[in-house]
Amino acid sequence: MDVILFNGSVYTVDKDRPHAQAVGIKGNKIAAVGSDDEVLAQRTDATKVYDMEGRSVLPGLNDGHVHLLNHGIIQDNIILQGCKNREEVIRRSKDYIAERNIPHGDWVVGRGWDQNLFPEKVMLTRHDLDEISTDHPVVLTRVCGCMCVANTAALRAMNVFDETPHIEGGEIELAEDGKPSGRMLGNAEEFTYSHFPKPTKDQLKEYILRSMDLYVKSGITSAQVCDLGLAKVNFKDTIAAYFELDKEGRLPIRANMMLFLHTKEQLEDFLSLGYKTGDGSDFCKIGPFKLQPDNSLGSRTAYLSEPYADDPSTVGVLNNSPEEFYELIELAYTNGLQIVADAIGDGTLDMVLEAYKKLMDNYPKEDPRFCIDHCQITTEAILDKFKEYGVIGGLEIVFLTSDLHIAEERIGKERLKWSYNWKGFFDRGIPVAIGSDSPVEPYNPMYGIYAAVVRKDFSGYP
Ligand SMILES: [Zn+2]
Repeated sequence: MDVILFNGSVYTVDKDRPHAQAVGIKGNKIAAVGSDDEVLAQRTDATKVYDMEGRSVLPGLNDGHVHLLNHGIIQDNIILQGCKNREEVIRRSKDYIAERNIPHGDWVVGRGWDQNLFPEKVMLTRHDLDEISTDHPVVLTRVCGCMCVANTAALRAMNVFDETPHIEGGEIELAEDGKPSGRMLGNAEEFTYSHFPKPTKDQLKEYILRSMDLYVKSGITSAQVCDLGLAKVNFKDTIAAYFELDKEGRLPIRANMMLFLHTKEQLEDFLSLGYKTGDGSDFCKIGPFKLQPDNSLGSRTAYLSEPYADDPSTVGVLNNSPEEFYELIELAYTNGLQIVADAIGDGTLDMVLEAYKKLMDNYPKEDPRFCIDHCQITTEAILDKFKEYGVIGGLEIVFLTSDLHIAEERIGKERLKWSYNWKGFFDRGIPVAIGSDSPVEPYNPMYGIYAAVVRKDFSGYP
């Protein structure tokens, strides 16, 4: 035995024998679980032995959906989480520019504002950001990561201020004066990010390790990483960065790379590399092809089957039409890729489930492991379809700590009854994978476990 932990309270995740005193590890596998006497009997001179002094010992945890690279990158950005009003957003941003002495003309990027925390609950516009700077292009992403706001300098730098183009699958919102409001929705967000300077591969490796070193300390030992599809990074550089880190033996966390590629061109470009799901090593693998057909409830871009309760003029935004969605997943699936899609609104969930059904009917295969992540606005029929079609539920249970403040406003009491229905997944025996979606929510899995157990926010509300 290489390592023995004894005198602990070991949680085994084995229903028949949930607790043990000691655990023995050989290589990178758990080789023995039992009483102190049983496990310590397997000790040799070379065994490293640690006395847990009664502490809890858990198996390594897996995060089912996480943006490690982006988490690493945004550590360098303006951090706007928790800003209580627009003045605080402006002050933090100005301080950031002053402290770093950022030259005029350089991009300034921040993330994490949430208008639901502001007294007037109104989303930022370019006019708010113009108070930060008129000399720097400034882009501030909302807490959901699914929309951003640009100042006038940024809109001019992107050449969209005087003449505003139509962005397929997105919107550069226009204000009443006919000029852009600064709000970039759907694919207009990615369009914005594509103007940022691109990091080098060595920088990417540092960003990945920066996040992993934090995550591993909270007990995460494996993760489905959603790190492709950042418009500010070439996805081939990201794959290369991961595989290089693996070769160098520097990854502290096992990584399964979700292939978030937005367009048919990107998918074809990826397929030309010849990879299939599962390629790689035991520590770092090519994961499933991923699409994100809708965005967030907070920004009313989640796609609902019926209009929003607090804005009957909209049902949200569908980023991919059902035809386009099916065409992309068919191309990926028939080329050896597993499939996952984010879906928040019930309209999107149903569209994705039916597309999966069609794919299974057209290309029957035992347990294709199709997955849908997020799954917030559900109905009884949707949950039943998960079970019937054998689809995995990727649940970011921690979302409810933020959404419980707005969900009733957005969808009303009736629809809410069947939504955030994590127990509905468990009761039906639907396989689930739990994730944090960090940096959207905190990466520490204890927050998700807390949300699952108590269904309150972190201040104990309601
Ligand atoms: Zn995500």
